[in-house]
Amino acid sequence: MHRSRQAIVSLVGAGPGDPELLTLGALRRLEQADVVVHDALVGEGILALCRPGTRRIDAGKRAGRHGPSQEWINALLVSEARAGRRVVRLKGGDPFLFGRGGEEALALTRAGIPWEIVPGVSSALAVPAAAGIPVTHRGLASSVAIVPGHVAAGADAVDWAGLRAVQTLVVLMAGSRVAAISAALVEAGRPASCPVAVVQRGTLPGQKTRLSTLGALARSLDRERVDTPALLVVGEVVRLAEELGGWREALLGLDSPDARTA
Ligand code: SAH
Repeated sequence: MHRSRQAIVSLVGAGPGDPELLTLGALRRLEQADVVVHDALVGEGILALCRPGTRRIDAGKRAGRHGPSQEWINALLVSEARAGRRVVRLKGGDPFLFGRGGEEALALTRAGIPWEIVPGVSSALAVPAAAGIPVTHRGLASSVAIVPGHVAAGADAVDWAGLRAVQTLVVLMAGSRVAAISAALVEAGRPASCPVAVVQRGTLPGQKTRLSTLGALARSLDRERVDTPALLVVGEVVRLAEELGGWREALLGLDSPDARTA
């Protein structure tokens, strides 16, 4: 097959889920791709924007199940590009925020493959926003940290005590560990009365927010189902959700498409 276009790997952010939050750059790359290698978090609404005939490869790791190894994915990107194809590596949110995009960029650079980054709208900012939570707010919070929800010791361990001075925390990969994370934060010196939101399926149909406090969450949520993907927002800004949140969830909860535009 004749190919006049240059083979390149585009590391593309797909945003938090709602296809409306794709960038124009992401849309253009999807429309031109020969192959799309995507993660589990990227939904059908976005994959449907690929042109017909694009090969899609699911490289997703799902909770409790092992996906392909990072080495396998790196090798796949290299070999597809060497075969002269336009490759889109599509990741939830932004590729360089807890997305291992940096590792893939290094592998491509070391293999001499041209690549580019198309940053995405990160769930870390967009999901709190969709729940009515500005992560900074004059008088309430002027600092924010984005951390993974790892509570076990290890190379990726989070220094919860070291984060005490940061006013808003956004905790990604919170999943089944919301209670343990809340307990770790209280142990590290945050008040048990500190407001916290568990935002589930942010920007997607069925978006749901649970508002609580660290103390109550540490006790209660082990017994509750958390829909994934989910993140935690911790800090005084969460109080704003009572006034600013809810509208989007009400909108997304409507099942009639006509009612949505009413
Ligand atoms: N690179 C991504 C984050 C990857 S880590 C980004 O920039 O958004 C994956 C975590 O992101 C999930 O475990 C969850 O905590 C969070 N996340 C992603 N999409 C989400 C969504 N729609 N709603 C809630 N949390 C989400």
